[in-house]
Amino acid sequence: MRPFAYARARSVAEALEETGAGTAYLAGGTTLVDLMKLEVVSPQRVVDITWLPLRGITSSRAGLHVGALERLSDVAAHFVVRKRYPVIAEALELSASPQLRAMASIGGNLLQRSRCGYFRDVSTPCNKREPGSGCSALTGWNRGAAVLGTSGDCVSTHPSDLAVALVALGAAVHLASAAGGRTVPLERFYRLPGSTPHVENALRPGELVTAVSVPRSPWAARSTYVKVRDRQSYEFALASAAVALDVQRGRVRGARVAAGGVGTVPWRLRGVERALVGRPATEETYEAAVVHAADGARPLEHNAFKPALLRRTLVRALTALGGDRA
Ligand SMILES: Cc1cc2nc3c(=O)[nH]c(=O)nc-3n(C[C@H](O)[C@H](O)[C@H](O)COP(=O)(O)OP(=O)(O)OC[C@H]3O[C@@H](n4cnc5c(N)ncnc54)[C@H](O)[C@@H]3O)c2cc1C
Ligand code: SF4
Repeated sequence: MRPFAYARARSVAEALEETGAGTAYLAGGTTLVDLMKLEVVSPQRVVDITWLPLRGITSSRAGLHVGALERLSDVAAHFVVRKRYPVIAEALELSASPQLRAMASIGGNLLQRSRCGYFRDVSTPCNKREPGSGCSALTGWNRGAAVLGTSGDCVSTHPSDLAVALVALGAAVHLASAAGGRTVPLERFYRLPGSTPHVENALRPGELVTAVSVPRSPWAARSTYVKVRDRQSYEFALASAAVALDVQRGRVRGARVAAGGVGTVPWRLRGVERALVGRPATEETYEAAVVHAADGARPLEHNAFKPALLRRTLVRALTALGGDRA
């Protein structure tokens, strides 16, 4: 690890003043410190934001509001989240390990970096780590790589489970900077790699994620997260599905569907949503709705199984939500 300066911000205003080129915010540190040890990132200055008042989980008629520094485990355990937004609790419970969930923050989770092995190995070319150096995954070991939204410059999946659940529910991130605040829908926050895979999201230099909000909806309470991975715990998704359904009198009235582990960003599946709405809530409908879920997929040598795995994962999630329930 390279030497760096450390400062603890005592207020949001102070954190925003402390930023500049070569500065990184420190929340739980479960990604940042790892990457600093590997020298994948080497900030000259680390601003500790753990003492900022960016906490709180509140629910109103408008929806759910979660402070960026809330811990993953606290959000997953919160009674309103479990009752009205179960897909969020399930996505969090299937993330990382209990120790990591107790340390990691919501904001840090949404901003975590790629888990591509080449990104984390500084001896190999990687456009995301070092723009213009090349992409080792294209011709190397690419079992975990994305099949949707890829480019010739990067095929890394977005690693956050929470982001997939939040994209399905139409969540937004709240951002603060010295110039003021703004709110960005999460679906528009993440950037496709294109020819600039090192630009991963819409966050501007020095901007702070302060909170996440999720609108109240008729489908959020009937929602679930299914994650398929090589090991049952402590592992990132090969494919995952976040699904929310509004079913009345045996018919799907509304649907929200997103996928993880397959796209370079959390992948909203609007075509699947359209194919569900107005149909009977049956397995037959679900099987038919997911047929085109992976259209446009560009599999590589070791991940050709992902389109079929995605379709099966989606059907599992939809079936788990079932038909009519009082
Ligand atoms: C072994 C292992 C397994 C894991 N498995 C999973 C998994 O299955 N699913 C999953 O989703 N995640 C998984 N993770 C990732 C884990 O969830 C993230 O490391 C964690 O959520 C990051 O949160 P943090 O608070 O520790 O962020 P930090 O490490 O402190 O920060 C991460 C990044 O976000 C920036 N940042 C943090 N907070 C803010 C803010 N409020 N505003 C602006 N910038 C900010 C930091 O500067 C840094 O760049 C795993 C991690 C490990 C180590
Ligand atoms: S897939 Fe992306 S992160 Fe992985 S080596 Fe290629 S450029 Fe780097």
